[in-house]
Amino acid sequence: MPERPASCPRCGYDLAGEVASWGRQAPARCPMELTCSECGHGFLCRDALNPKYQRLNGFWEHEPRGRRVRAFVRTLLWLAIPNLFWRRVRLHHEIRWRRLGVWAFGVPMVLILASICVQAIFIKFMAIGVVHWGFTLAPTPARYGYAGMHPAAWYALDKLLTVLAFFWPLLAYPVMLTVLDTSRRWAKLRMAHVIRATVYSTTVFSVFMMIEIGVVLWIAVSDLVEPTYLFSGVGVPLAMTHLIALYGLLNPIWYVYYPLSLVWLAWYWNRAMVANYRLHMGWPVWALLSVIAFLPVMMTSYGTWIVI
Ligand SMILES: [Zn+2]
Repeated sequence: MPERPASCPRCGYDLAGEVASWGRQAPARCPMELTCSECGHGFLCRDALNPKYQRLNGFWEHEPRGRRVRAFVRTLLWLAIPNLFWRRVRLHHEIRWRRLGVWAFGVPMVLILASICVQAIFIKFMAIGVVHWGFTLAPTPARYGYAGMHPAAWYALDKLLTVLAFFWPLLAYPVMLTVLDTSRRWAKLRMAHVIRATVYSTTVFSVFMMIEIGVVLWIAVSDLVEPTYLFSGVGVPLAMTHLIALYGLLNPIWYVYYPLSLVWLAWYWNRAMVANYRLHMGWPVWALLSVIAFLPVMMTSYGTWIVI
């Protein structure tokens, strides 16, 4: 007998009655595969009944404490290619909420702290005159006019739009999936699966933040250790600190990381909805949700930046 009550991996429908019926057959037998009578999901009985198959080797949620670092790195690598991630992490794999919580809050917290430290180091350098150019990790405000508005109000609006630009695409897919599911009982998908997918989807912004912090640290440290002058031979002293300014001007957050994140997010949710959840009309629904997720982004300041 399974340790936990048997249920459909996709919708959570209780399979106890189904399992009990196997024993009443003569001779008693259990099938290899089953189709859920509630949601129509077809799955292997061993995946729903045997706890051994509900654990995934190398996965962040399932590796023991001693192997957490390795599991973290491996899960991160899987996420680089959503096909790889969703081919491994399946609906029947047990969701461990504590580990999921650590991924959801721990990773961004560490990065925010790292970002604050890097910025603090920079401010310190600027104060002692080592770094002459200011640089901030925050996205550069878009070119808003000050048409009759108080500058502080514009600043607040800009920050709000920036936060929305990051959070709306992250939340649009899960929110819309939930609305569709609860309003029409259409997807018949356990909420837990949507939460898990949402948590791992935040990783894309965390990874780009890691890269950003790494680049800034590298520039800062190399300049501190030995100020590097490029093109000094042709009489143009260009210090590494100038590269920082150049890096700031190129604005990689908006022009590189952010568009890449959106592409990754669309791809990730496509694989989740089409290949993993195997939603009815998966592709058209995904396309519709993608429009909902990205249209507001294109209509905000970011869109005008791209056009200009
Ligand atoms: Zn089901």
